[in-house]
Amino acid sequence: MATPESLPVMPADEAQAVTEALRAAGVRLVVGAIIDSAGVSRGKQVPVGRAGSMHRSGVGASSTWAVFCADNAIAATPRIGAVGDLRLRADLAAAVDVGGGLAWAPAEVFTQDGSASPVCWRGFLRRQQAAAEALGLEVLAAGEMEFSLLPARPDSAGGERWSAYGLGSALDHQDFLLDLEAEFDRAKLGLEQLHAEYGDRQFEFSLTPAAPLQAVDKLALARFLLGRTARRHGLAVSLSPKPFLDGVGNGAHLHMSFLRDGKPLLSGGEGPHGITPDGGSLIAGIVEQLPELTGLLAPSALSSLRLQPGMWSGAYACWGLENREAAVRLCAATVGNPYGANIEVKCVDPAANPYVACGAILAAALDGLRAGTPLPPEVTVAPASLTEDETKRLGVVRLPGTHAAALDALEQSAAARRHLGAELLEALVAVRRHEQAEYGGADMQTVVDRLRFAWSV
Ligand code: GLU
Ligand code: MG
Repeated sequence: MATPESLPVMPADEAQAVTEALRAAGVRLVVGAIIDSAGVSRGKQVPVGRAGSMHRSGVGASSTWAVFCADNAIAATPRIGAVGDLRLRADLAAAVDVGGGLAWAPAEVFTQDGSASPVCWRGFLRRQQAAAEALGLEVLAAGEMEFSLLPARPDSAGGERWSAYGLGSALDHQDFLLDLEAEFDRAKLGLEQLHAEYGDRQFEFSLTPAAPLQAVDKLALARFLLGRTARRHGLAVSLSPKPFLDGVGNGAHLHMSFLRDGKPLLSGGEGPHGITPDGGSLIAGIVEQLPELTGLLAPSALSSLRLQPGMWSGAYACWGLENREAAVRLCAATVGNPYGANIEVKCVDPAANPYVACGAILAAALDGLRAGTPLPPEVTVAPASLTEDETKRLGVVRLPGTHAAALDALEQSAAARRHLGAELLEALVAVRRHEQAEYGGADMQTVVDRLRFAWSV
């Protein structure tokens, strides 16, 4: 079924039936959830009996919800400020009973007259998904999330022994991990993996591929459940791209694959590793636009500390088979890859709004497809090891190395403006300019400490 361009209104009797089913399951409060311009999860809760109203009419939210910052400052712009009101409409069809008397539903932003607001993050991804479908594509996306599991009391931070991918490190937190698996299972998130990662106190989960809207909803709900589970265990989760000044950062890689008429576009073709010409154009569009979209994908004052060579964070706009230093890593169709060929966009971090990040990557891919851009040359080594001549010949571009450079490129990007529209772009840039003004000149240790939990639920 084609994705509607705007969140449809459910017939009243259907909304009533959903509400009654939630109530019968013991739900008392329904959370209408968004992730905002700064990548922070926010929302409002209503009693279950009001779920239909939160779906149809929405609940009130000041216009400044579009420009709340990671530190809760408000980055007002000439057009977004104290006057005006928005409505958060919960997508009741996507509501999930998450236990403990709560249901969770993703929300979209509307104006009071019932039209979709141009600042809506989920609405943006919805439109990109619809655009892909209009081109005859089926897109599958899947999120991963790295996070740091920390003591709830920051003063007791020191001392835990950690080994990268260590089974001992996972055993040290087995009760938490088992509880998290149960939470994800009840919410049908489709957990693929849950493991101790490389960095100190770092874990990662990855989720099953789904249509982009659904895949990002699952990521958003996973953040919520992660925060709830950690609290139960007296722990805290950091989704900061740079939870500690030393060591690797937290990434939020996005996987994507494309089909037309049921046939994959990243395998079974004549190109390198079986990539089809259209698949090549989709990759080319992404690689081409990544430098100007970095301000959306790795957007925070801390993101450029993570987005460095040698961190496996994909700091270079290029692609390569299983190349973990390329921003676009191709995972080819092999026996070892049960979902078939896909690309992993590695430069995304958890401070990004995942609806915006996924929508922007998709929009760039579709640009490549429409233009028939050919697949650029593959990069088979760590891009930082290339000579200047090779870098040029392969067309490899280093992603912006500072927050200011990423924001300048984003602000000047005609593609970003076209994808997002002027108002959403304005909101996204405003909150990051605030971060830059507030933290850009500060001592980085202080900023890392200050923002460690800014993106946590
Ligand atoms: N921690 C790395 C990042 O910042 C990713 C490591 C990996 O490839 O899983 O994205
Ligand atoms: Mg990882």
